Amino acid sequence: MKLSSKLVKTTVSALALSAALSSASVFAAGQPGHLGKKQQTNSYSYRYIDVQLLGINDFHGQLDVTRNVGGRAAGRADYLAAYLKQRERENKNTLLVHAGDAVGASSPVSALLQDEPTIEFLNKLGFDVGTLGNHEFDEGVDEMLRLINGGTHPKTGYFRGADFPYVSANVIDKKTGKPILPPYVIKKVKGIPIGFIGVTLSDTPSIVIPSGVAGVAFTDEAEAINEAVKQLKRRGVRAIVVLAHNPGVSNKDGSNASGEIVDIAKTVDDEVDVIFAGHNHAYLNAEVDGKLLVQSYSYGTAFSDVDLTIDRRTKDVVAKKAEIVTTYQDSIKPDPKITKFIDKYEAKVSPIINQVIGTAKTTISTEQNASGESALGNLIADAQRTAMKTDFAFMNSGGIRANIEQGEVTWGELYNVQPFSNQLVKMTLTGEQIRKLLNQQWQSNQTRMLQISGLIYTWDASKPIGDKVVDIYLPNGAKLDPNAEYTVTANSFLADGGDNFTVFTEGKSREVGPVDLEALIHYIQQLPQPFDAQIEGRIQQLR
Ligand SMILES: [Zn+2]
Repeated sequence: MKLSSKLVKTTVSALALSAALSSASVFAAGQPGHLGKKQQTNSYSYRYIDVQLLGINDFHGQLDVTRNVGGRAAGRADYLAAYLKQRERENKNTLLVHAGDAVGASSPVSALLQDEPTIEFLNKLGFDVGTLGNHEFDEGVDEMLRLINGGTHPKTGYFRGADFPYVSANVIDKKTGKPILPPYVIKKVKGIPIGFIGVTLSDTPSIVIPSGVAGVAFTDEAEAINEAVKQLKRRGVRAIVVLAHNPGVSNKDGSNASGEIVDIAKTVDDEVDVIFAGHNHAYLNAEVDGKLLVQSYSYGTAFSDVDLTIDRRTKDVVAKKAEIVTTYQDSIKPDPKITKFIDKYEAKVSPIINQVIGTAKTTISTEQNASGESALGNLIADAQRTAMKTDFAFMNSGGIRANIEQGEVTWGELYNVQPFSNQLVKMTLTGEQIRKLLNQQWQSNQTRMLQISGLIYTWDASKPIGDKVVDIYLPNGAKLDPNAEYTVTANSFLADGGDNFTVFTEGKSREVGPVDLEALIHYIQQLPQPFDAQIEGRIQQLR
């Protein structure tokens, strides 16, 4: 938001150019054409203001993580910061927003400190408003509200919280029947009010552990948005932006927009101008029903730059466009203050993170073969079955977040593989229930292959949903007995029916064990080194 004179010099030509371009396009759209160029510029700047919204989604506390985007390094908080600051200098009417999952499934540098470093990072950048993703609920509502409002945690002590508001229109306190956070905020830019409404995936309870969402209900996103729009309109707000942790995707040119957020866009009041989406870590830059929809991948590898032209008389948005900008590291210098900030926290957690747990003979990948089996899935399922001493173990593929690279494997690397800190749960299921469970992998809108240990099975793609599993074998070659009882390990997410694996909720004699990461570390430590894991044909597709 600050404009230093040194930097004005370097950006002035770009600024002048963009002002000229946008005034030309606005005037072309119905303004008197006889005005001289100078008069146009003056009356333009009198009548219209240009507002820039810079947005991120699904940052997931990736403060120190560099990712590969098309063969180039991208991401890391200090590069993201440099890009955002560069854009801010181009327009002082800039607001920074995020559409949820800023924290949760984070890098250890953030996660080991309760994700306080990530909130502090957003504070440092001067974020203006954010909303809740599903991952904000990972450690429960109280801990989420502590990160936002400030408070004390036994591990980290006192934390002051976010310097910016979080908005949420559809997360309701079951006791009071009211939203747990303000449904919207109004930000004024040069006196013009802009409303920001937040909503979160109403499916959140099915993808977060039940204790995470205890005490709250998620209501329909579009209805909640429309209610907030009604209130904003009553307060004279005409420029309205929605931060929605709901998925959407489009082609680069804006065609073929699809996903939940597209349905929401079509349903909500036409006073909504822009929707920042999230959750599926995708590219989205499309106009749907007159609303501009954006999403910028995830992990800070990109951000959304939305440029609005607002008419001072009507206070409404008259022109809008967006660009999804990848934060390539080779195109900018990292922000030195944020580099220092990352270094400080890395030093704080480094003794834990750099501990070497073992040595991988080859890279052990999460990539599944056509049957649905992955080498890393096998390793993790074996680790969990060993830790809980059960007949079988089942692991959700979505909970495996990175490969194990060849060579020395540190605690930090394994953390990035299993960042959710789910506890393992032992339970008893019958053979028939296990068959039903495996058939639940094929869901009406998605296939979710479980990674398995202690059994082998075959499946047939030509068979209908609910009946794809053919034969299930025990390690000794005998078939699974539908009437026998078997002990099973799953993580707490699955054990509570996560990813719609409802059979797990029927499990008897439940017993909670260590956190998944701990089980994986102990398992690797006792393997002969260097260790390895392979696809072994545990899952076999017949046709
Ligand atoms: Zn999400």
